[in-house]
Amino acid sequence: MIVAKFGGTSVGDAEAIGRTAAIVRGRLDRQPVVVTSALAGTTNRLIELAQAAAKGDLIVALTVIEELRARHLATIDALGVGDDAELVTDTGALFDELAHLAEALSVLGDVTARSLDAVSAMGERLSAPIVAAALARIGVPAVFVDARKVMATTDDHGRAEPRADEIAVACRTHVLPLVRAGKVPVLGGYIGATAAGVTTTLGRGGSDYSASIFGAAMDAEAIEIWTDVDGMLTADPRVVPQARLIEHIRFDEAAELASFGAKVLHPSTIAPAVRKGIPVFIFNSRNAAGRGTKITFDAPRLPVRAIAGKSKTVVVRVRSPRMLAAPGTMRAIFEVFERNRTSVDVVATSEVSVSVTLDDVQHLDAVVAQLSAYGDVAVERGRGIVALVGAGLGESTVTMARALTALGDLRLHMVSLSATGINLTLIVDDAVVHEAMRRLHAAFFEEAA
Ligand code: ADP
Ligand code: ASP
Ligand code: MG
Repeated sequence: MIVAKFGGTSVGDAEAIGRTAAIVRGRLDRQPVVVTSALAGTTNRLIELAQAAAKGDLIVALTVIEELRARHLATIDALGVGDDAELVTDTGALFDELAHLAEALSVLGDVTARSLDAVSAMGERLSAPIVAAALARIGVPAVFVDARKVMATTDDHGRAEPRADEIAVACRTHVLPLVRAGKVPVLGGYIGATAAGVTTTLGRGGSDYSASIFGAAMDAEAIEIWTDVDGMLTADPRVVPQARLIEHIRFDEAAELASFGAKVLHPSTIAPAVRKGIPVFIFNSRNAAGRGTKITFDAPRLPVRAIAGKSKTVVVRVRSPRMLAAPGTMRAIFEVFERNRTSVDVVATSEVSVSVTLDDVQHLDAVVAQLSAYGDVAVERGRGIVALVGAGLGESTVTMARALTALGDLRLHMVSLSATGINLTLIVDDAVVHEAMRRLHAAFFEEAA
């Protein structure tokens, strides 16, 4: 059995869904379980409409709902499944539910994380039955399964965490019997539900995570992520057009790249696959014959496998000649971040200072106030991170010099080599993140070695 996840562009319109359906049909011998994202762009529109409704712009919200309704119904028609009365009725009912939610938000004048989840989960609640119908239309014995019955999560709305034990039980009840009966279950990614049945989401881009969670729960042979690029590339092709396909990459490298900006994989995707040793593949649904990327434990170690970058990073520095040397201060400082549920990406320390980067600044004010107990706190906004990732990086004697030379006159604010020697992170001005990525890519992938 395999889990095959199709991202937004792979189900963006009838043509894309048609390609996706053909890919699934070509894999029936592998007993696929299909995980689908919302139609491309839908989740963004849903979030916008929730915010508009909460601001009192109900007309705007309802206009967006009508636009989405028309798009989904047109897709259903173009797929030739418009005579599926149940599909059309259920789709209409979801849009009515969405309109009620928007009205409620406009009355409340506020959107909570919980109500935002109710709205943003609509994209996958809509797409999964459509994909299942498209599969059935070409003879695939597909069955829609409401992912909320299977993806049991915590109640951290907007970034809910899967509950592995409950999910394994739910897979045995709702998914595996279908697979054994020769059917193809189709579930929405990204969405789940609490023990009380309240709808949750795993965070933006979370359908990849859904696929690996389901794959691990069912001991899949492989987890396939079908997207709009040929696989994992040596850099984001939107930033570095010369980026090349990586045919084989290690789990730890892929996880680092994902958490430092390679959007092709949600950062949490790798962990469940690693736990079960399940290979993850990335394929292009527009180029199904491509080789794609294979992610496993055992790709050869290279000093630099790929480059990633991310923007809108905030650096927080605490300086205190007196206190940092005192035992326990470092712990106390990190407890401040923990208490405020703020995760830290990169850390650099000296005898008298500690610098960290954050990309979630929701609780920044509280963090700064509490850190002031330990020293002078400075906040630097407008920074970005560029990461050079390779399992052999720590052992290489030339890579760092080459990286710093390649950056040339770009100013560095922080540098950190991960303890595992797999990731060199460089903090630069946000405005030069792309330029830094291009220079590094040119130095490591475009010059004769
Ligand atoms: P999906 O909707 O299929 O989940 P995403 O937009 O989330 O697709 O992810 C695919 C995109 O990730 C690509 O179009 C590409 O622009 C971007 N990307 C960023 N870094 C990389 C990388 N290193 N390799 C491949 N794609 C990358
Ligand atoms: N539809 C969700 C999003 O846009 C989840 C996903 O596509 O992975 O964030
Ligand atoms: Mg994605």
